[in-house]
Amino acid sequence: MFKLIIELVPSTVWFSSIYQIYKNRNQSSRWSKIKKEIFEKEGRRCWVCDKEYGRLEAHEFWEYDDENHIQKLAAIHHLCDMCHKIKHIGLWCYTEKGSKQLAKSGLTREDLINHFCKVNNCSRKQFEEHERRAFKIWGERSRYEWKQDFGKYDPDRRRDIVTRNLFQYT
Ligand SMILES: [Zn+2]
Ligand SMILES: [Zn+2]
Repeated sequence: MFKLIIELVPSTVWFSSIYQIYKNRNQSSRWSKIKKEIFEKEGRRCWVCDKEYGRLEAHEFWEYDDENHIQKLAAIHHLCDMCHKIKHIGLWCYTEKGSKQLAKSGLTREDLINHFCKVNNCSRKQFEEHERRAFKIWGERSRYEWKQDFGKYDPDRRRDIVTRNLFQYT
């Protein structure tokens, strides 16, 4: 198993991440709090390749129950921008908006492939096979609607706790 893998989010649940939810609710301070907690717990390094410098971006790691179609948020960790771009390679290499942005940041698809091969110590052929498989899974999963389970990151959980406490004191 590779250290750095492509994890494409099914198109039916695009824009439904914790990051997006907080952004849409104008609660970006709650996202900053998550980031701060990760920095405190895991330090300023990429969770996958261990790189300690550069920009770190929080990535949501999802688990898929392909039988019941439940997408569960398992963890959030910081990744360097290169590892993060591999995770969402569909966006960066296969959409017009993403490709333009990638070019604007001075990067090419080749740079991403080289990073993948370096971190995983693998060949370009292995990358291509892995990418093909990732898109096959993505195509399968994108045929379904997914029920989302945010686990311990549930954005409404804190409010629930407050409500429960209020009941306790009345
Ligand atoms: Zn990295
Ligand atoms: Zn991500």
